[in-house]
Formats: sequence, C-alpha cells, structure tokens
Amino acid sequence: MNENRLPRAKKSLGQNFLVDKNICAKIVAQLQINPDDHVLEIGPGRGALTEFLVSAAPASLTVLEKDNELAERLEGLYPEIGILQMDALAFDWQSLDPGTKIIGNLPYNIASKLIWDIVSKAVNMTKATFMVQHEVALRLTAQPSNKEYGGLTVWVKNHTETEYRFKVPPHVFRPQPKIDSAIVDFFPLPLDQRPENPEQLSTFIKTCFQKRRKQLANILKKQWNEQIEAWFSEQGLSPQTRPENLSPGQFKSLSALV
Ligand code: SAM
Repeated sequence: MNENRLPRAKKSLGQNFLVDKNICAKIVAQLQINPDDHVLEIGPGRGALTEFLVSAAPASLTVLEKDNELAERLEGLYPEIGILQMDALAFDWQSLDPGTKIIGNLPYNIASKLIWDIVSKAVNMTKATFMVQHEVALRLTAQPSNKEYGGLTVWVKNHTETEYRFKVPPHVFRPQPKIDSAIVDFFPLPLDQRPENPEQLSTFIKTCFQKRRKQLANILKKQWNEQIEAWFSEQGLSPQTRPENLSPGQFKSLSALV
C-alpha cells in the first residue's frame, strides 16, 4: 500500500493505525464470523481490520467512521459494504439487526464510554471483540477485590461476560503508541439476567466508586433500613465491606434496595 496516498495520521490520542497484517487477521479471527452474522466495525480508519472482515464474508458488514476523509476512502475501496460517516457515540445501538457482532480497534479516548453504552443498549449483539488500552482491558475483566475492579467492571459484567484474549504491542501500529493494547471479547448475558432497573444500578455504581475506600455502611447511611441490614446478613457480608469487595451480582441486588 502506498503510504503517501493515505490521509495523514491524526496526532490525537487513539489515532494509531494497525499496520501488521498478522495481528489484524488474528483480531478478526477472534470474532468467529459465520455466514449468517451481521458485522459492525467501529472506527475502521484505513481499513486494516475491514480488509479481513470483508474476506470473512458475513451476511452484511457496516462500518462507523467519524472522519470524513477516511470514510470516503473506504467507500472507494469497499463499495459493497455499508459506510456510516458519524460519531459512534451518537449511534442508536438498539437499532442493530438481530445476530450482530461488533468489532473495533476503539478510539482510546472514548472506549470506556462506548463500551458502557454498547453492552447495555445493543440488545441484538451476539458478541463483541474490542481492542482497548491494556489498562482498560484489565478493568473490563477484573475480579472483585482487585485494584483494577471498578465501576466499569461492575456495569459491563452485569450485561456481558468478558474474556481477556491477548496483548497487542506498540510496534504493530503507526504511529506507535507509548502504551500496550489488548483484545477483549464480550458475550452478552441473557436478557433475563440483566439489571431490571439499569438507571438505578448505574447511579448506585457511580456513588459507590466515587468513595471506593469507604465502607458500605457509611456510603448507605442515609438509606439504611432493615431490608438492607437483612441483605448483608443473607450475603454473609459485614456492613463494613467496601464497594470493591462486592461482586457484580451483589451490586445488582443491593442497588434494588437503595
Ligand atoms: N481500525 C483502524 C486500525 O486499527 O488501524 C483504525 C483505529 S483508530 C485507533 C480509531 C479510528 O476511529 C480512527 O479511524 C478514527 O477516525 C475513528 N474515530 C475516532 N473517534 C470516533 C468516533 N467518535 N466515532 C467513530 N469513529 C471514530
């Protein structure tokens, strides 16, 4: 490929383009595309992953690219695919076709926000494979009582199962980032296992992790009642427990009482 004909890489965070075809093939293989799958790629950029997605021949392929120049270039390269030139943060995730798999080397500055929205709103998604900063990958897959375990972990694990797959080193990108990246898979939970009141859970998670070193008895002192007291004893937990020690399921059940 003639690098001179490509739009110049943007300097802002998250504009690192994959240039190693082996890694691109490995990331796309992770999505396990079947002929019946609809595939949506977020931030295709110069089409490093798109090339392999087209070869995998899903039922349909749509890409979401914010940059006008990059979107136009992809239109020229792949006239057969759907190209949406728009901000992924404004996409209506509920509008996806049933049986959609989502993939992307996500723009790092919006990756957490995008994942927060996608896992909770993309109810027709069957699987997602995302590249994120290594540090974010650890948060997405962390276990309770770990320093990486936080609000993002709890929210995402109340909607999907996550699996850390592999680390991606800086030298496979241009320009080279200063940090490692990693691939994470997301498997949506059945709808009946997800939070009944997501707004309530979201607010509760945010309240708790603003004060992650405080004890729950203290965080909940204004709402404290017999029901909450009983919940702690049923769970075998002391009210002195800190938010980082509750499992994602415990967050869900406790949020329904506060
Ligand atoms: N997938 C390509 C690759 O791996 O080489 C490019 C990845 S680059 C990290 C992120 C891409 O997302 C860029 O093409 C950028 O223009 C695009 N992008 C950035 N913010 C976006 C947004 N809010 N919505 C959609 N695309 C966005």
